[in-house]
Amino acid sequence: MRLRRTLLIMMQTNMTFPTMAGSAILAEEHSDMLPASSKSKEPIPGPISDDRRWDAVVARDRARDGEFVFAVATTGVYCRPSCPARRPRRENVSFYARPEKAEKAGFRACLRCRPRSFSGNPQSDLAKEICRYIEQHLDEPITLEHLGKAFLQSPFHLQRRFKAVLGITPREYADSCRMRLLKRNLQAGDNVTRAMYDAGYGSSSRLYEKTSSQLGMTPDKYRRGAIAASIRYTCADSPLGRMLIAATERGVCSIQFARSDGELLEGLKREFPFAVRKPDEGGLEAWVAALLSKITGKESNAALPLDIRATAFQRRVWTYLQSIPFGATRSYSQVAQGIGQPTASRAVARACATNPVAVAIPCHRVVREDGNISGYRWGVERKKTLLELEQS
Ligand SMILES: [Zn+2]
Repeated sequence: MRLRRTLLIMMQTNMTFPTMAGSAILAEEHSDMLPASSKSKEPIPGPISDDRRWDAVVARDRARDGEFVFAVATTGVYCRPSCPARRPRRENVSFYARPEKAEKAGFRACLRCRPRSFSGNPQSDLAKEICRYIEQHLDEPITLEHLGKAFLQSPFHLQRRFKAVLGITPREYADSCRMRLLKRNLQAGDNVTRAMYDAGYGSSSRLYEKTSSQLGMTPDKYRRGAIAASIRYTCADSPLGRMLIAATERGVCSIQFARSDGELLEGLKREFPFAVRKPDEGGLEAWVAALLSKITGKESNAALPLDIRATAFQRRVWTYLQSIPFGATRSYSQVAQGIGQPTASRAVARACATNPVAVAIPCHRVVREDGNISGYRWGVERKKTLLELEQS
């Protein structure tokens, strides 16, 4: 039991899933483009009356940001003077010299104007806010007019202030964000159309060309290079005929059976068309031995680290399959029930048929309702042999 659990955990930790990069990470990465925040402004000598503060709030006076914050009793939120949100009624507003004081009084920071992030440098703060805004709106066309409206600035001034801090225009910044996101999506193995779409590009041929010139190559080629993780493979004899094991640095990514090595290599090429495939130089022997002892039952729990991609559904099915004991079988509908989706027998059959690592994930232990040995990706004969080996 403990061994089995270990294998399951290994399987889970070694699986890689396509990820979509979030824009929050982009914000982090770009923060180095901003100048270090200068020290907080010295308080302006002399008391400022609440009436003058209120005037600044009504005017959304950006120049007064950092001097004070205003808190709204009805919402429990505090803002900087320039917050673009709707103005509250005067009688609900109180003023605090610093964000900490407003928080001590029980107010929380406004998500829109982020009064806490104020660095004392309005220009740099504005640029930072614009960056965040752009990162959150990459899938929309962002025009200067649009930004001007969002930040209550004339498009001309907004662009000038942004460029003064970052040295590039908002549009160039948006382009660089999209490019980063696209690269990351492609590296994660997303298909080109989806990667482009998720990075805020359309999929028109014009954009494709533009992207290609920025990447220095076509997105397909970039993706291919990125996931051309070199795969090592080796072929060996097994009770089921010739067997191929292929692995990345992280674990076994493919186990196949065929009559000849040529057939096996063809199969590997179909599975990983863009990978660099190299014959193994001795590192895979232990895994070949482990797999053989799994097949013969000599050590049915032998652990094999796996590096496979799976949808959430496939992962659930495959994890369940690993819990079927050596020598036992389950029907497709039993597996469907086992993963809590009793009506998904057909999808379970599909998940079995797409198992990339034969035997390591024992999809051969799933049989038809009447006990008949039905389809197997590697042929019914091999499935029969495997089950017989497990019975003896
Ligand atoms: Zn606010």
